Amino acid sequence: MSSQALLDRIRHDKRIWAHRVLTKHDQNPFFRVMKSVNAPTVDVEDRSVIMMGSNNYLGLADHPVVRAGAAAALERYGATVTGSRLLNGTITLHTELEEELADWHGTDQALVFTTGYQANLGGISALVGVGDTVVVDSAAHASIYDACRLSRATVRAFRHNRVDLLEDKLSRSTGVVLVVVDGLYSMHGDLAPLDEIAAVCEKYDAALFVDEAHSVAVMGPDLTGAAGLFGATDDIDARMGCLSKGLGSSGGFVAGSKDIVDAMRVHARTFLFTTAGVPAALGAALAAIRLMRTDEGAERSRRTLANARYLHDGLRAAGVDVGAPSPLPDGSDLVSPIVAVNVRDDLKTVNTWRTLWDAGVFASAAMFPAVPHDGAILRLCVQADHTTAHLDRVIEEVGRVLGDGSEHADRQA
Ligand code: PMP
Repeated sequence: MSSQALLDRIRHDKRIWAHRVLTKHDQNPFFRVMKSVNAPTVDVEDRSVIMMGSNNYLGLADHPVVRAGAAAALERYGATVTGSRLLNGTITLHTELEEELADWHGTDQALVFTTGYQANLGGISALVGVGDTVVVDSAAHASIYDACRLSRATVRAFRHNRVDLLEDKLSRSTGVVLVVVDGLYSMHGDLAPLDEIAAVCEKYDAALFVDEAHSVAVMGPDLTGAAGLFGATDDIDARMGCLSKGLGSSGGFVAGSKDIVDAMRVHARTFLFTTAGVPAALGAALAAIRLMRTDEGAERSRRTLANARYLHDGLRAAGVDVGAPSPLPDGSDLVSPIVAVNVRDDLKTVNTWRTLWDAGVFASAAMFPAVPHDGAILRLCVQADHTTAHLDRVIEEVGRVLGDGSEHADRQA
């Protein structure tokens, strides 16, 4: 390496150091190598584990219909489109998929991006710029914060889900104002009160962009996400979703009015200046959406949410700190497929992750900056195809380490 200054910086970087130490002692929860990936139980390195860390909520990533959609697209169009959407990269599968997404969401149009990250980055920065304001929930996804930076608008964050504080920011914002929130928060699995958020946006003439990355296909009366649970679908200007999680493929999209989508089509840099998604991903996504719009899709969503409730209630009964379900406007509540176990301490989280790994349970560890400082969690995700036996094992193992009265994890730390 030619720059000593750069080398010094890398060698003194605490995060890189921690990564190296954890890897050396085989304690690293990150970058494990999967030999199979899309089932309730998978092979990771030298062991078979119950997969509780996958966003394959509905079990579509390995579904024969979705695989067939991917295979047919690969066969017809080849491995890649070798160009951006602007030039030679738009194929008939894009228009079919965008029409299907718009019809499903009840919007004029939809626009597909190569990844969900790029949908946020390009979609948000296409709508606001210098002199405008973006008001963001403090727990919003990293791609939303990166989008804010790219936009060069003024960024104001409000405390997670505090609509009163959002209103305070809105009352003091200038230029075109865009509010950006997640419908379902990716780390703690809680919902945004989208009806109240939409109401304050309307009061202050702010546009509303909602990231439904983890909720699309999983929840809502039409399974397009959390907005429908709050009767807010028509009050949202841009509904972003991922094709890469519940829908079992890869990519992202934004659904909205013709005006909003055209602004992104013309200005979104991550749409214009990157190669469009591979045909297999588009074919898989189209097959997955069509499947979700059948009775089987509804049944898969029902099973996923029932599994989430079962895991949440079981962990709570075992004395594990899992947080409360999200309240809904009709007085009921919802447990999302993301069940966050509050551990709060990084070292304890790593040790607990390792204990579960040895017990045959793969969980995701989340520490700063994915969550706030001292807010470390184990993120457990259910799938439609997890059986009660799988979930009982997980409850037993997590309960053994983090349940009432257990000091197991503390002893290890
Ligand atoms: N938004 C949220 C809330 C996410 O959790 C993620 C991915 N983890 C993204 C956007 C980015 O999606 P993708 O992985 O498809 O790039």
